[in-house]
Amino acid sequence: MNASIILRSAFRDIPQRLTRTRKVHLCASRLNQSPSPLTEFTDDEIMMKETVAKLAKEEIAPLVRKMEKENKIDDGVLKTLFENGLMGLEVPTEYGGAGCNFMSTILTVEEVAKVDGAVAALVDIHNTLVNSLIIKVASEEQKQKYLPKLAQNYAGSFCLTESGSGSDAFSLKTEAKKDGGDYVINGTKMFISNSDIAGVFLVFANANPSAGYRGITTFFVERDMPGLTVAKPEEKLGIKASGTCMIHFDNVRVPESNILGEFGHGYKYAAAHLNEGRIGIGAQMIGIAQGCLDATIPYTLERKQFGKDLFSFQSMQHQIAQTVTELECARLLVYNAARLVDAGKDVMKQAAMAKLIASETALRVTAKCIDFMGGVGFMTDFPQEKYFRDSKIGTIYEGTSNMQLSTIAKCIRKEYS
Ligand SMILES: Cc1cc2nc3c(=O)[nH]c(=O)nc-3n(C[C@H](O)[C@H](O)[C@H](O)COP(=O)(O)OP(=O)(O)OC[C@H]3O[C@@H](n4cnc5c(N)ncnc54)[C@H](O)[C@@H]3O)c2cc1C
Repeated sequence: MNASIILRSAFRDIPQRLTRTRKVHLCASRLNQSPSPLTEFTDDEIMMKETVAKLAKEEIAPLVRKMEKENKIDDGVLKTLFENGLMGLEVPTEYGGAGCNFMSTILTVEEVAKVDGAVAALVDIHNTLVNSLIIKVASEEQKQKYLPKLAQNYAGSFCLTESGSGSDAFSLKTEAKKDGGDYVINGTKMFISNSDIAGVFLVFANANPSAGYRGITTFFVERDMPGLTVAKPEEKLGIKASGTCMIHFDNVRVPESNILGEFGHGYKYAAAHLNEGRIGIGAQMIGIAQGCLDATIPYTLERKQFGKDLFSFQSMQHQIAQTVTELECARLLVYNAARLVDAGKDVMKQAAMAKLIASETALRVTAKCIDFMGGVGFMTDFPQEKYFRDSKIGTIYEGTSNMQLSTIAKCIRKEYS
């Protein structure tokens, strides 16, 4: 059976299988047993992880270098992601999605990132920011209109950042003025992921500037709406195949029915949903770091200097043990935050911690891997330098490391006040 058939049948079985799993948990709590360790998964999660790993290895890995060179996700890879349900992971089955839990999304992003950080960025942002926000706050009509397309046809973009508002996201200047039954959007968004291929954009615009950030409202804007222009993708240090573009809105007219959720709640949606997004970035980072280690440790076992393999030197062993341990710490933070999301708990602090540690760890691990490889680690013929470049984005997007520290500090102050 090929990967796509396995994944599809896994998705079909999910609702029934989850019920079964829940029964097991009820049983366990009656017996007063401890909850499962973080590195243990349900049958469905294991199936998902293994199937995505196979798909990434067979269908994405051969095209990674080509995609990086062309600064573009390969059309065939995009088709594969849609056909195999990776673009509608948590989208309920009645809207054409896979109906998975959040942990499955995290495992999917991690497995894809082991092979390519850029494809992982696409899968992550599309699922954890765009689909997830629509699933939680859209009207039934909007869900029926957009979710099947997002699960099966086109990517989505989350448009918050502007040239003057990055970390200070809610000082954005894009405006939406009411005109009869419509809103007219004017402004420019910057660094918007997936925007080279997106069919729909979730746009944060201020529809009542006199109310300050409380006027920020989220709109569905479709790619073919007159007045919307997507600039050419930026040239970047890493995740080059992930399209990052500037978007201009020049009198883009949208009907009032295109408001996502409630008027003036855009800032709340951005704040709350970026928590889940950050756990997704954590997953991308641990995937990149693990992929890099998987490509490096076998080399240290084979390469001989001073008559011994590199792994035999105690100083090498200690450094490898240190990096693997640091990565495991980051992974546990990411998995714990994901489990908290599935349990419906507040994750603001844990999401910030997971993203902070996973992205800083990925940078350290991938840099160390280059050292473990010696000169060849610096060469583009070997994958380590790409993993290193791809990992750098983790400390920047969806809130820089400083902003994660500020969020964590805010939570600590609250706990002690
Ligand atoms: C490849 C890529 C993809 C992206 N994708 C998207 C996307 O899909 N959608 C979207 O909306 N945005 C996206 N972004 C934007 C991204 O989220 C922002 O770049 C990020 O939030 C940082 O904002 P900034 O670049 O304006 O940096 P600034 O806010 O100017 O920060 C510069 C430095 O100042 C520090 N700093 C700023 N304020 C404080 C403070 N109060 N305390 C301490 N330090 C501070 C920061 O930590 C940072 O080190 C993307 C960016 C990139 C590079």
